[in-house]
Amino acid sequence: MSSATYKQFINHVGNYLESKSDVEKVKKAYELAEFYHRNQVRNSGEPYIIHPLSVASILANMHADSDTLCAALLHDTLEDTTLSREEIKEQFNADVLNLVEGVTKNDKVNYSSKEELNLANTRKLINGLTNDVRILIIKLADRLHNMQTLEYKTPLKQKEISIETLEVYSPIAYCLGAYKLKNDLEDLSLKYIKPDAYKELSDKKKELEQHYSYMLTDMLKEMYELLSKKSIPSSIWYRVKNVYGIYKKLNTGANIHEIKDLLAIKLLVDEVDDCYRALGIVHKEFPYKDYMFKDYIGTPKPNFYQSLHTYVTGGDGSLVQMQIRTIEMELVDTYGIMRFFDINKEKSQIEMQDRLKKHYHVYDSLMEINKAARDNEEFVKQVKEELFSDRIYVYTPKGKEVELPKGSTAVDFAYSIHTEIGDKMTGALVNDEPKDPLYVLQNKDVVRVITDSCLDGPKEEWLDQVKTSKAKRKIKEFNRIK
Ligand code: MN
Repeated sequence: MSSATYKQFINHVGNYLESKSDVEKVKKAYELAEFYHRNQVRNSGEPYIIHPLSVASILANMHADSDTLCAALLHDTLEDTTLSREEIKEQFNADVLNLVEGVTKNDKVNYSSKEELNLANTRKLINGLTNDVRILIIKLADRLHNMQTLEYKTPLKQKEISIETLEVYSPIAYCLGAYKLKNDLEDLSLKYIKPDAYKELSDKKKELEQHYSYMLTDMLKEMYELLSKKSIPSSIWYRVKNVYGIYKKLNTGANIHEIKDLLAIKLLVDEVDDCYRALGIVHKEFPYKDYMFKDYIGTPKPNFYQSLHTYVTGGDGSLVQMQIRTIEMELVDTYGIMRFFDINKEKSQIEMQDRLKKHYHVYDSLMEINKAARDNEEFVKQVKEELFSDRIYVYTPKGKEVELPKGSTAVDFAYSIHTEIGDKMTGALVNDEPKDPLYVLQNKDVVRVITDSCLDGPKEEWLDQVKTSKAKRKIKEFNRIK
């Protein structure tokens, strides 16, 4: 949606917010924002208020709470209008003010150069996550609307904003498990960074959708009937991978038909138990690759993604990924952590923040990076390398999956398992072959760390080659390096 009407927005909000006073509060925020932005227009020529209204509408589609909606409507007021902090606090509450302040950029006057300012803003943005994750959620919706309306900017600005979206915003969406947002941001960025490749691949995607529609529809029908017979209610559909996802895989040298999850069938059921029953039926009905099976329900991904993945062979011999999960898991997959916000619960954001700390690896890693970084530049560099870079997936001998940044060494793996294991490491068996501690891990490696309890600690020379900030910090601590 590129522009929203106020009436639609308020109707929608009124439908899901239970308290009438919450709806009134949102109306008040709109009126205030409209008043303060009254003399501003967007590059498109539309009144400025269309932008905050669209951002709030994106969030209303995720059923955001009233404070988040108010903050979204007011998100540009501190930066671009004369509305004061005091007034926001007085008219709303301290939470709304905290959210608006969280999405407001740092004041230019405090920085000596544009680079310094940019780094400070990026750090502030990312750290919004440890303050109140809703700050990030508003920022992501803000960026999505800006990307949707990027055609009105100059070509140079379009590229600049798209690159930042790919480097910072879509990785944040991934860390919070919001896959739909991530995919939309990625595809829009590619459209401006590589217009030709984007056009070619979106045509290709349409062609593939058409080409495989018979085979996939047959599989859907068959599955649906089998599940109905066993009284497992389900909804099933298929998708072809997003354009940017295809683009990235092709860039690694792969051929389009080598992309494992190019074609996926989503099979949604009501209960967790039904996921496993459905899996049994799938495996009985279709030839499948047992070594490729993954249970992300038992062990969710670091961004709390949950699903069963199995790969089957379709009617024409093509590989099809089957994603089996509950409807609830599908909603978490779409909205990410925002799905856990209970609008009818007082202080639900505290629970959501706790959930972030407990279940999302990004939280601890960010804390770790904040502790170690000497300045904003180092912080941003380390976050990009450690959290926002390409990932590899390696395994413990017991088959537990460990996600690490690409380029990680066996030492990083050891420290991610346990400090003690890293400290006492002498080497590793990687796929049963003896390797040096600094061996750079490859996707799907099975790693057994070899330790020696008599060893006094990690070597200082490792410092330059390890990737994760936990490993860096532990090596520094042991060798007493400041
Ligand atoms: Mn904005």
